[in-house]
Amino acid sequence: MDLILQNALVAGRPGRPVDIGIAGGRIAAIEENLAADGERLDVSGCLVSPGFVETHIHLDKSCIMERCCSVRGDIAEAIEEVAKAKRDFTAEDVYARARRTVEKAILHGTTHMRTHVEVDPGIGLVSLRAIEQLARDYAFALDIEICVFPQEGMTNNPGTEELMVAAMKRGANVVGAAPYTDSDPHGQIDRVFAIARDFDADIDMHLDFGRLDGADALDLDYVCAQTERRPGERVMSFGRSEQRCRRGGEKAAGPERVAVFPADAKRHRRAAVVEVEAGRGPPTTSRHGISRPLRGGPSLAGARGGLSRPA
Ligand SMILES: [Zn+2]
Repeated sequence: MDLILQNALVAGRPGRPVDIGIAGGRIAAIEENLAADGERLDVSGCLVSPGFVETHIHLDKSCIMERCCSVRGDIAEAIEEVAKAKRDFTAEDVYARARRTVEKAILHGTTHMRTHVEVDPGIGLVSLRAIEQLARDYAFALDIEICVFPQEGMTNNPGTEELMVAAMKRGANVVGAAPYTDSDPHGQIDRVFAIARDFDADIDMHLDFGRLDGADALDLDYVCAQTERRPGERVMSFGRSEQRCRRGGEKAAGPERVAVFPADAKRHRRAAVVEVEAGRGPPTTSRHGISRPLRGGPSLAGARGGLSRPA
């Protein structure tokens, strides 16, 4: 064995601690008092579990709380504040902040991560290059998947689409979308589908918050319709989809999972599974970004109003 973890508690195996033998990078044996040669590490009865998967994070925007301010406490202000802060981003700055977050994630057991990374004419590929370097430097402990993300819109922000394509050519893994910030939400969705087809890539869309202009529109329906019309479409991941729950001010009673289309399990295509956790806010990272009381800002309760769909 390359390594033997001694005295480990394993989920689903109640009782006495076991030894875990690892060979060739894989678990080769789990048993009590494993008789084998190899380096031994006594974990003293600690729980040994599969690594955690962070499915939604924005490493390029992590650790900028002190650079932003909240007065209205809504999502539009949060985007404006981050856009302002982004003007001062450098590759070194993005790398240093993201590294702090990545190291914490690793120390807490995360082994896989999908991070959105913004590209637009303002920031160009600066953040992307920094996160690419970070992914290489920490590949020994963490698999980082990069999703290119047009936070400030796409069809309304000339040059963004070209930068997203450039990012995909550099090796980004997933195409992101933020239709709610675009002057032509469905136009953005169409372009994102097209890029994903060109690169045979997955799509991960932000579909919560409704529209920043307050329009009562449900982009989720449009995305589902587009997916249904294209039998060869890639798996869609609707990373955030509070929108359906909030329509008409209604909220479902509890978490629910809605399978929109049957998945083709063999090819992982033409599948759209929407996970809707009713009443849940955005992922922890985003909640952290817009719900904490900021310097000179309102109370925590007031700031949380930012999670609601704009009136
Ligand atoms: Zn997000």
